[in-house]
This record gives sequence, C-alpha cells and structure tokens, in this order.
Amino acid sequence: MSNILVTGGAGFLGSHLCDRLVEENNVYCVDILASGRKSNISHLMSNRNFHFIEHDVRKQFNSDIRFDTILHFASRAAPDEYQKFPLHTLMTNSIGTLNMLELARKRGSKILLASTSEIYGDADVIPTAESYWGNVNTVGARSCYDEGKRFAETLFYIFGQQYGMDTKIMRIFNTYGPRIRADGYYARALPRFIMQALGNSDITVYGDGSQTRSFCYVDDLIDGTLALLRSKHPGPFNIGNPYEVSILELAKTVKELTKSLSKITFHSLPEDDPRRRSPDITKAKNLLKWEPKVSLKDGLHRTIEWFKSNS
Ligand code: UDP
Repeated sequence: MSNILVTGGAGFLGSHLCDRLVEENNVYCVDILASGRKSNISHLMSNRNFHFIEHDVRKQFNSDIRFDTILHFASRAAPDEYQKFPLHTLMTNSIGTLNMLELARKRGSKILLASTSEIYGDADVIPTAESYWGNVNTVGARSCYDEGKRFAETLFYIFGQQYGMDTKIMRIFNTYGPRIRADGYYARALPRFIMQALGNSDITVYGDGSQTRSFCYVDDLIDGTLALLRSKHPGPFNIGNPYEVSILELAKTVKELTKSLSKITFHSLPEDDPRRRSPDITKAKNLLKWEPKVSLKDGLHRTIEWFKSNS
C-alpha cells in the first residue's frame, strides 16, 4: 500500500481520484472546503484507507507521514469563482505549489501537478499541442488563474531539474461529470446549462456561442491522470477530449437531451474569453497509451442523470 496525498481531494476531480486510489492505497485528502465539498467525500469517511485533513496549502504542511505520491489538485478552477477570489487563487497556485514541492522534496515523493489548458490562454493554434507557449494576458480577468498555473508549472520544472525529483505535469482541458458544481459562481457553462435546462429556465449563452471548448468526461480524465502517474515521463501532457464543440451547440445538445422547454438566450461575452479550445493529445496517445473513450452525448447523459438524482 502506498501513501498518497491528494490536495483538493474534496473537489470535483480530487474526489474522483480519491475514489479510485482508496481501493489499494492509504489516501490522505487535504482540502479547505472552499470549492470542495464534504458531500463529495462523505461516502469515503468510514473507509480505513481514507483520511481527511482540513488544511490550506498556502500554509506549510508538516507531517511525519512518508508520502510516496502527492497529487496537487488544490485550486479554484471555475472562471467566475477565481475571478471573485483572484489573490487566493494566485497564492494557492504559487505558494501552495511551492509548499507541496518542498514537502515532496523532504519526503522523496513523486509529485503531479494538475495544470490547465488555460496556460495556453487564447491560443491561436488549434488543436493545441504541448509545444505551444501560450497567448496569455498578465493583467486581465483570467490572469490570477492562468499565471498562477504557469508559475506552478515552472516551479515543477525547476524542482525536477535542480533536485532530480520525479515531477509530472498534466494540462487538464474542460472536464465534466458527476459532482461538478452547478451553483452560483462555482458553476461552469456545462453544469449550469444542465441545471437551467432541467429547470426549464433560460440557457444563458455568452456572446453568440461560436466560441468552442472540448469536454472530457471525468472517468477518462482520471484514467489519464493514473496513466501519467504510472509512466516515466514528466510531461507536460495535454489530458482532454479533442472533440471540439461550439458553446451554442453544447446548449442545444443539453436542451435536446433533457427534453427541456428552456429558451436559449444570449448575453455579453466575458473579458479575455478564449475563442477556441481543443487539445492535441498525440503525445499522451503515443507515450501514455491513453485516449478518452466516452463520447460527449454519453457523458452528458450520465451527468444529466446524476444531476436529476442529486439536486
Ligand atoms: N459560458 C456561457 N454561459 C455561461 C457560462 C459560460 O456561454 O453561463 C461560456 C464562457 O463564456 C466560455 C464557455 O462557455 O466561452 C466555457 O465556459 P466555462 O465556464 O466552462 O469556463 P472556461 O472553459 O472558459 O474556462
């Protein structure tokens, strides 16, 4: 049994990771329950292999446990949310990442960073490969998240180079599935559209809806994370589903799958909203032997069913 620390372990992705890992490992879930929720991990609380620790990664984490692996997933990730807490977001990704790297260095742990497609900013090469350096605004609405994650990647790179540590970087593209939040500023487009459609209220498309995203079902994302963890490669690797859809198409698909009476309405486009986003996953296919398997319709269907019985 390995000792695995998952920061952000009560969040959407972190909790799915804990679910998978807890069968064969001692899992230490660290979270401050900001965007993470106790309900995501309540079913794990009685598991002997699962340990919840309420701790803010911006503070040093002192523990005698010898963690074999650290999965660093702690961060606010929804645009409305990180824009409401920009400094918190920037510091979680900078100081928080430094603290986790220092812990990994002391304990000799392998460490993986949940980075993001946002480090590419408003990319002008689509699909985007890992070799693309990014088109990012340092002083805009998304900077706290984009630059925080870029700084975190650089820290990972330096610790890997300077201390010979086993560091791994994955760049996560839009991911969805059960437990993704649909409430208030935590909501991203896809879960918000589902809740709007299920309640027959307006589906709020920003701009004309021609901007695109590529949505990866959570089970595929977890498979990709574990494939990277098992591999000998540091990355960075794009982990996402390359199937690109416009936001208007997404709204129409959600409306159709929920048989909703909602109207689709159009609202102003937020500042610095990337126009297109889709990963080139050739590197992950070749080196990790990983690719997503769940189609958008299938994943949406599963997610809609979850929302029907959990809201
Ligand atoms: N969006 C939208 N309606 C909403 C929320 C978001 O049309 O109610 C748009 C948003 O402007 C962006 C896309 O949907 O172009 C994806 O937004 P998401 O919240 O998933 O985050 P992002 O992919 O931009 O990080």
